Amino acid sequence: MKKEMDPSCSFCGRKKKETQILISGIEGHICENCVQQAQQIIDEELFQKHKKFQFNLPNSVKPRDIKKFLDGYVIGQDEAKKFISVAVYNHYKRLNQSKSDEVEIEKSNILMVGQTGTGKTLLAKTIAKFLNVPFAIVDATVFTEAGYVGEDVESILSRLLQVCNYDITAAQHGIIYIDEIDKIARKGDNPSITRDVSGEGVQQAMLKLLEGSEVLVPPQGGRKHPEQKLVKVDTSNILFICGGAFEGIDKLIASRMNQSKVGFKKGKDKTNVDKDNFLQYISPLDMRTFGLIPELIGRLPVLVHLNPLDRPALRAILTEPKNALLKQYQKIFKADGIHLSYDDDAIDYIVDKAYEYKLGARGLRSICEAAFTDVMYNLPSENDVKEFVVTRDFVEEKLEDAQISKLRAA
Ligand code: ADP
Repeated sequence: MKKEMDPSCSFCGRKKKETQILISGIEGHICENCVQQAQQIIDEELFQKHKKFQFNLPNSVKPRDIKKFLDGYVIGQDEAKKFISVAVYNHYKRLNQSKSDEVEIEKSNILMVGQTGTGKTLLAKTIAKFLNVPFAIVDATVFTEAGYVGEDVESILSRLLQVCNYDITAAQHGIIYIDEIDKIARKGDNPSITRDVSGEGVQQAMLKLLEGSEVLVPPQGGRKHPEQKLVKVDTSNILFICGGAFEGIDKLIASRMNQSKVGFKKGKDKTNVDKDNFLQYISPLDMRTFGLIPELIGRLPVLVHLNPLDRPALRAILTEPKNALLKQYQKIFKADGIHLSYDDDAIDYIVDKAYEYKLGARGLRSICEAAFTDVMYNLPSENDVKEFVVTRDFVEEKLEDAQISKLRAA
C-alpha cells in the first residue's frame, strides 16, 4: 500500500486527526466509528438469520401436542400442563381473531401456584421453547411503586426487549414469566393505614401491563427518568405467566373449605378431600384472601396448581427428561472418555435425601453437585480410568463429607 500523507477513513471520509483510531487495510482505512457501525450491522443481520421467532402456531398443532412436548421436559404436573396447553392454544386463537368479530377472546394469562422447585419456571421456559418466541423471567420482588427505590414495573418489558435484541415486533409476541408474584401480596388487612410500597401499589401498576395496552418502556430497564428515550410496547399479545409458592395458602384453602363445609361433610364425602395436598382445591377466592387484589386476579384467569413432588416424581426427574440431571453428568464424563453409571440404590438414596430436604427438584441438583464434584475434579486427570460406577456408599460418603446441614440451607 502506498503511504498517504493525510490518510482518511474510506467509509466516512474523516481525516486521521478527526478519528481516535484509523486502521489500515490493503486498499484503505477504517475508523473506530465505522467499525462500530459495521459490528452493529453484522449483529443485526446474523441475529435475524439465527433467531427466527414464530408468531403463529402451525395449524397442525393442537393442545394435546403442546402437552406432549411439555411431557418431554416436565415430569408429572399433568393438570397444570393440560391447563397451560389450552391457555397457550387459545392465546394463539386470540392473536388470529378478526377485529370485527363480536365475540372477543380475552387474554389467557396464567397464574401458577406451587411449592419451590416443583417446575413452575421450567413449565414457562418449556412453553417458550416450544413456541419459539422471546421469553424473559423477572422477579416480582424487585419492583416498587413509582416514586420509590426499586424498579418500575415497566422494566419487566425491558427484559423482554433485551432478550430479542430490541426487536419490538418479536417482543410484542413474547412470553414473560413473573416469579415470586406472592411476594407482592398486600400485607395486612387495611392497606390505607401504612403505605404498602412493594405490595398493592405494584399490583395496581401491573394491571395495565397484563390486560394489554401500550406501555412506554425504558429500554435499559430500571427507573424511568425524564431525559430517557422510551420505547412503546403493546402488551396485548404478550402472554404473562405468573408463579409463586404462596406459602401458607394451603391453610387458607383448608379453612375456606371447612367453613363452606365442602368436602368435610359427614359420611363418605369426607374421604374425598386429600388433606395432604390442599393446593389442588385452590380458587381465585384464596388468592384474594392471600392478598392479591381482585383486579389482578381477574387478569390472570388461568389458575393452576403444581403438586408437591413425591419420591417417584423426584426419581423420574433425575433420570427421565431429555436433559435429566443424571444424563447430564454422564455427558460430562463421556467427554473425557469415562463411562459413568449409577446403581439403583444410589439413585434411591439421592431421591430420599432430596425428599427429606423439601426443596423439590432443586434439592436434587445440590445433592448431585455435592456427590460428584470430587470425581469431576479428579477423574479427568486419571488417564487410566475409563469407567466409574456410582454406588450408594459412594454418595453417602460424599454427602457426609459435604456436611448435609449445608445442603438444607441451599
Ligand atoms: P420453581 O417451581 O421453583 O420455579 P423450577 O422450575 O425452577 O422450580 O425447578 C427447579 C429445577 O428443578 C429445574 O431446573 C428443573 O430441572 C427441576 N424440576 C422441577 N420440577 C420439575 C418437574 N416437574 N419435572 C422436571 N424437572 C423439574
